[in-house]
Amino acid sequence: MRIGIDLGGHTLTAALVSEPDGELLPRVERIKTRNTPPGRGVREVMQAMADVVESLADGSGDVISIGVAVPGALDAARRRSLRLSNFPKEWDDLDLLRTFGDVLKARRISAQIYIENDANCYALGEWRAGEAIGVSDFVVFTMGTGIGCGIITGGELLTGAHGMAAEGGHLVIGGDIPCGCGGRGHAETLAAADGTAARAAAKGIPADFGELWAMRGSADADEVLETTLDAMARTIASVCHLLDPELVIIGGGMSQADGIGKALYERTLPYMSYPFKGLLDLRISKLGNEAPLYGAAGMGHIA
Ligand SMILES: [Zn+2]
Repeated sequence: MRIGIDLGGHTLTAALVSEPDGELLPRVERIKTRNTPPGRGVREVMQAMADVVESLADGSGDVISIGVAVPGALDAARRRSLRLSNFPKEWDDLDLLRTFGDVLKARRISAQIYIENDANCYALGEWRAGEAIGVSDFVVFTMGTGIGCGIITGGELLTGAHGMAAEGGHLVIGGDIPCGCGGRGHAETLAAADGTAARAAAKGIPADFGELWAMRGSADADEVLETTLDAMARTIASVCHLLDPELVIIGGGMSQADGIGKALYERTLPYMSYPFKGLLDLRISKLGNEAPLYGAAGMGHIA
C-alpha cells in the first residue's frame, strides 16, 4: 500500500492506494479528509499530516511510500519547499522531506517520502489512473482558486532547470492585473475563480463560480464568464502551440461546471493555428479530486 496526501490551503486529503500487479489499475482503498489547521503553520500541518497517515496506515500492513502533493514551488531535488504562496513564510526554503520524516519517525512510521507540486501530482494521477493512461504527451490544467498546470512531455514530467516548469497559470496572456505570484497580466488573474469572483462582485452579481455559471444567459454573468473562458482558451492554445500535446485535461473545482469543456473547446479553436486546430482533444478530468492522490501515492512506483 502507498499513501498519497493532497495538502490544500483549506483541506487536507489523504488516501491509501492499492498497488496491484499486472494490468490492474491502482485504486483508492480508503480516503480521509480534514481541515488544514488554521494558520497553516509548519508544525501544525506536519502533525495533521502524520495524524491522517497514522489513521490510514492502521491495520493495513506495510506502507511502502508516502507522497505529498504540495501547493507551491519546490526545489529541483524535490526535498525543499521554496515558496507556498498561501502558507506562512516559515515554509519558504524548508527541508520538507526531513521535517516530515522526523515527525513520522517520532511516531514509529518509516516509509519512503516523496514531495511534488500539486498540479504535477494531478498530471501524474491522470497518467497512472485517469484519462492519460499510456499517453506520453499531455497537459493538465486545474481551474480553481488559481490555475495549476502539470505537463508530461516525451513520457516525462516536465520540471525545468530549477524544478519550477509548467506554470501555465502564469502565462502572460494580456491585461495588467497584478498576480498573486508577483507578476502581472497572468492567465490566472482572469481565468481562475478568484479573478472571476472579483469581476462578478464589481457587478454586484454572485461571486461563486457555480452560481455564476448557472446564470448564463444574463448579460452581466455572460460578460464575466466570457472573460474567464477567453483567458483560459488563450492559455490552452498557447500551451498546445508550444508543446503539441496529444491531450489537454481540465480539472479543478471549476471544471465541474456543466458544459465547460465544450465551451472551452469552442473558444480555444479560433486561437489555434493549422494544423493544431484539427488535433485538439480537450477532456474534463473524471478522477477529479482523487487525481493528485493517485499521483502522490504513485511517485515511488513511477520513478
Ligand atoms: Zn502569476
